[in-house]
Amino acid sequence: MAGLVRLILILMALISSIEFSAAQQAAAPKQTIKVATRIIPPFVIQDSNAALSGFSIDLWRALARDMKVEFDFVVKPSVPELLAEVADGRAQVAIAAISVTADREKAFDFSQPMFDAGLQIMISADRASSGGFASFMTLLKSPALLEMLGILLVLIILPAPVIWLLERRHEGSIAYNKSGVGGFFNSIWWSASTLGAQAPEMPIRPIGKFIAVIWMFVSVIFISFFTATVTTALTVKQLEQSITGPQDLVSKNVATTAGSTGAAFLRQLNINALEVPQVEQAFEALQDGRVQAVVGDAPVLLYHTSHDGKGKVQMAGPIFRPENYGILFPSESPLRKQVNEALLRLKENGEYRSLYRKWFAVEAIEKD
Ligand code: GLU
Repeated sequence: MAGLVRLILILMALISSIEFSAAQQAAAPKQTIKVATRIIPPFVIQDSNAALSGFSIDLWRALARDMKVEFDFVVKPSVPELLAEVADGRAQVAIAAISVTADREKAFDFSQPMFDAGLQIMISADRASSGGFASFMTLLKSPALLEMLGILLVLIILPAPVIWLLERRHEGSIAYNKSGVGGFFNSIWWSASTLGAQAPEMPIRPIGKFIAVIWMFVSVIFISFFTATVTTALTVKQLEQSITGPQDLVSKNVATTAGSTGAAFLRQLNINALEVPQVEQAFEALQDGRVQAVVGDAPVLLYHTSHDGKGKVQMAGPIFRPENYGILFPSESPLRKQVNEALLRLKENGEYRSLYRKWFAVEAIEKD
């Protein structure tokens, strides 16, 4: 009897231990992955209720669904803090707009490329056009204008005494019967008007007429010369001001996001850039004129030009350094292979494409 009871007790213990380990096994895949991210539209967008959306957020959700894993997002305010979250093991993965670089590859592991990006420059739209009033002010300050005014003065004064001497005794003529000063001023008025191709009346004596014709030719030549000089002065000024590539940034104030690949690039060029944690702060600095250009990720800048910055900013020059975005893991992370397989599956089954179209292609079509 006692033997039977012992047997039953042993069996019960066995069954409960089998149940426990089964429950343990079922709980294992439910482990929640911490995913670090940072706000960088249109890859990661946060609305007023702190809800996240964007290309990278949608992509991670699709990957997690494919891998059947649970996760929580942790939003970090800057690129260095995002990287530190993974380096220090507080997050198992990071996804935002993280560029794959040789330096980062040393300390981390990256997924397969998840997006083609690259560095580009954005400037404000009024700076680019630099038309109207700005051009007029540039012209007023240019030495070419002073030179022109000097030539104009000489051309007005030069023929006046000749015309006065020739015409002063002829009734009804430009300088007729005027005292020295009055007649002389009338002649100056005549030569100034002729230079502007608007002579009110012509000299009477043939020699005076001859001089008048010569003077009209001189005026045509002068006006062409004046137009050419002014146009050249303005074009040169615009070329000096314009930004078309990183070489034009050397003497300018530039903003970029702190700890980003843009910041590293500017440091290499010895450009002392304003480094801000949030990309919006760089856009604000451009808007208030604290900086003349923003260096950053092409898709991020392009998104701004067609949304909040529409009409106020524009891209300057092409992408000058191509980059890829990747999903970031600690070195040797077992998760990487799983994510890579899922990413390739999403690329093969069209889900990646439809996400891409949702966030980017619609705009590309609108712009065409
Ligand atoms: N792609 C940039 C980088 O990896 C980050 C841009 C940003 O989040 O500000 O450094």
